[in-house]
Amino acid sequence: MTNNLSESTRKQIESISIDTNLPLVISDADEVLLIFMERFEIFLNRQDYFFDWSSFKLTGNIYHKPDNHQLSQEEVFSLLDEFFEKETQSLDAVPGASEALDLLSSRAQIVILSNVPIAYRDERKRCLSDHGMNYPLIVNSGPKGPAVQALSVAVRAPVFFIDDSPNNLKSVANVADYVRRIHFIHDARLAKLVGPAPDSHHRTDSWVETRAAIEEELSAAGF
Ligand SMILES: [Mg+2]
Repeated sequence: MTNNLSESTRKQIESISIDTNLPLVISDADEVLLIFMERFEIFLNRQDYFFDWSSFKLTGNIYHKPDNHQLSQEEVFSLLDEFFEKETQSLDAVPGASEALDLLSSRAQIVILSNVPIAYRDERKRCLSDHGMNYPLIVNSGPKGPAVQALSVAVRAPVFFIDDSPNNLKSVANVADYVRRIHFIHDARLAKLVGPAPDSHHRTDSWVETRAAIEEELSAAGF
């Protein structure tokens, strides 16, 4: 299924080196390593929009305050793009993320797999580095399964994938079922809107728990 991989994602994956004997931790960025929702809500409110917290998705939940107009998919994408342009470089880190990755990196290699628009790749990289998370960054678009498969297919050690989106976890389950999948949501309000993803092995909302889950599995597998 790696043929679903976009040319851009494939090239980025080819440009990094993966040690096939070492465990691999592939982590999403928004709402896992970086605080997305809180800042996005501030951005919306500043422009007289609001998020109404009725389900785990952006489209359908964003309204224009003065006339209660519900934003279309296209309008949401355009706002999101503006948000990423203005804020990608200055997002705050999820508490404990940097420390946990640092500790895990003594036993596993870390790769960050983000669906931030490719135009903001450098800003995302800089922001992650500013927070002490200077790991290889792959910027993907669409379902993450093919990218995770391409990154991990040759690895002969445990592979973990961490993401807040049930769809991304499902995509990985579909094409790379051997990957251990962790459903992580930092924002407590967002977390309330979605149950544990059916395609996940763990549901966590802190890096202390996440690191413990990964380390326990690594130890059990003899790594
Ligand atoms: Mg995310």
